[in-house]
Amino acid sequence: MQHDALAPQYVRDFRCTGAKCPDNCCHSWNVAVDPATLQAYRTNPVLIPVVQDKLIDNRDLSTKDSAPAYIKLDPESGRCTLQEKSGLCTLQKQFGEAALCQTCASYPRTPKMLGDDLLVLLSDSCPEVARQLTHDANAMELNFGALQLPDHLAISLESTTDTYPQRHQILQTLLTILRHRAIPFELRLFISSLYIQRAQTLLYDGGDISIKELSDLFFSLIEQGYFEQQAQQLSKKSDGSLGLLILDILRKERRSKTAFTEELQSTLEGLGIKDKLPIASSHIKQLDAARTQYLDRLEKKYSHALENLVVNWLLSGLFPIYKKDLNDGWTNIMVRYLLLRTLICGVALKQKKLDLKDLTRISYRFGRGVSHSAILNKMILELVGRNLNNTTAFANSLKA
Ligand code: SF4
Repeated sequence: MQHDALAPQYVRDFRCTGAKCPDNCCHSWNVAVDPATLQAYRTNPVLIPVVQDKLIDNRDLSTKDSAPAYIKLDPESGRCTLQEKSGLCTLQKQFGEAALCQTCASYPRTPKMLGDDLLVLLSDSCPEVARQLTHDANAMELNFGALQLPDHLAISLESTTDTYPQRHQILQTLLTILRHRAIPFELRLFISSLYIQRAQTLLYDGGDISIKELSDLFFSLIEQGYFEQQAQQLSKKSDGSLGLLILDILRKERRSKTAFTEELQSTLEGLGIKDKLPIASSHIKQLDAARTQYLDRLEKKYSHALENLVVNWLLSGLFPIYKKDLNDGWTNIMVRYLLLRTLICGVALKQKKLDLKDLTRISYRFGRGVSHSAILNKMILELVGRNLNNTTAFANSLKA
């Protein structure tokens, strides 16, 4: 179906690469089946023989209503049991897209309502999406217009709060700051952290200026170069605590063998981190050196790459709109960024090189790992426990 939607340019350009995909989406994660599709799978005489032994009930009471069942994965390969050897999906091949559950029909789309508009983003856990985001400088140019979408798309409907206009303003301001390519990307992250901190206070406690005035103030301070000095002063005080915590959590994360844990393993090997030996400030120094030697060079050439990934996270989650606590929403984005940066630099150390292809591969594998492991939540809980979920800690970790 065609639908008028707000979407960045890369969403309009996206084409699933199908059989050429380096790592298709039919493995390693549980495909949740929505109630309407499950009903069809259990009652349609044509579908029953194909799917009846491929479903397992969801026993988790907190998600059972929206996802009463999952499609079974092959325990050895981790592949979807409906996927054929050729890589094609049996359901899609025999009955077309209409036979797919919402999860499969929607992926990699993450549609949400932004006010009255449908906003469509794609998940960077898809290699082709990660390629577009890292390669195309204009990938995140938003525009409104007709978009071809699957018939049964799972649209996330969250209720807005009475502060929607202010939150919308905050979202627009964050997008402007994060896409201000005249200054280094990590400085933009630092400025955004300060802006969120101030906006949170205004939103909850009120103050002498409006959110719009706060945004205008930040724009004018950016033009005056006010934040550079502040960032430099803060980063001099860096004690590396946040970096050490990230490495410690990454080390504990090696469980099953997935594409994500392969990158993780490379990171640890690149840094020479062993199970029994403690993580030390020398590892942080190595990461800093790798950032200068590999990532900074790549960013000089492709300054849009990490920016596009972060802006895509921001819009996919619409956190200033739906995440009640702004600091929590921002912490989630910052932790995600710092984790990804750690992986990129660690892998570069191991490979002794970093190019755009590496960045794309690490990004989509990271996207999958983060979506299907508890690593982000673990990290956030640790940060909160150690009081590191604040602007100063983030500023200490950024090269602003
Ligand atoms: S991961 Fe992306 S490109 Fe690959 S098969 Fe799935 S939707 Fe297509």
